[in-house]
Amino acid sequence: MKTAFQEQVSRILAWCRTGACILAYHRVAELATDHDQLAVTPEQFRQQMSIVRRHYRVMGVADLTAALCRGQAPGRAMVVTFDDGYADNFTHALHILEEFEVPATVFVTADMVGSARAFWWDELDSLISSAGAAAGVGPVPQDLHSVLKTLPAPQRDRMLRDLAARQGVARENQLARTALTHTQLKQLAAHPLIEIGAHTLSHPQLSALNPQEQDHEITQGKRVIEAWLGRSVNSFSYPFGGRRDWNATTRRLVQTAGFSAACTTVPGLVTRACDPLALPRCLVRAWSGAAFQQRLAAFSQEAKRMSPPWKMSRGARARVA
Ligand SMILES: [Zn+2]
Repeated sequence: MKTAFQEQVSRILAWCRTGACILAYHRVAELATDHDQLAVTPEQFRQQMSIVRRHYRVMGVADLTAALCRGQAPGRAMVVTFDDGYADNFTHALHILEEFEVPATVFVTADMVGSARAFWWDELDSLISSAGAAAGVGPVPQDLHSVLKTLPAPQRDRMLRDLAARQGVARENQLARTALTHTQLKQLAAHPLIEIGAHTLSHPQLSALNPQEQDHEITQGKRVIEAWLGRSVNSFSYPFGGRRDWNATTRRLVQTAGFSAACTTVPGLVTRACDPLALPRCLVRAWSGAAFQQRLAAFSQEAKRMSPPWKMSRGARARVA
């Protein structure tokens, strides 16, 4: 009779035969509040990377995509990705990735690099918190997040400014800088374990924009980072990444812009049938090592019942390649 641990290992191995897993992270940081559940602590990340290193074959997005284009889905493969371009990817995550020799792709929101401003959803969270704390001030509606994400950047910025004014809060004092600086981005890009990918200019919900606006966000986000780094950027991550956050037009524009891989946040495993421009991922939350292992096992069971975000014909795969 198998022990619980042996059961766990055999479940993981069974899953490994079915496809690769792309983990989606955002932040590695100790936060006082984390409304959007974007952060794992450095200790949790260390435990998770230890498991990834011991049980899986680690690889980058580029290697996984190359395998898909050859009609293969590498078994026991695990890919680590970070969305948005938070500075803690450099200050907190990098040395843990080095410790376990795990490669990672960091998808960078181009307009935020070097910005003294917070990411807009963090600013909104902060405004919601301060509204809750301030006596006599009405609460900020929680569904503002879903409204703001559909707006072009200038309108979104105007709305945040009005909101801050209503709360009597000076925006520049609201939050510390959290995005990568240009120097950090260049140091990350020069690291042999790190691939830099693109995540648009301003992190809009692309499906809410017209094709010209989408193209501007996708193409310019790529060009700006390429100009900084002096090399091509081949991987992309759809902002928000859910099935409603991008559409067929978005995918076509991503392909036309010259990307060879694009990640969604649609849950699932990467199988041979997956479109390299619509890769499913597994969102990682603030889990201990043990919880991470259990979640991965449960995710693998679930994933077998999920359809990939976009199945791909052999001809389409050849065109991407
Ligand atoms: Zn993002």
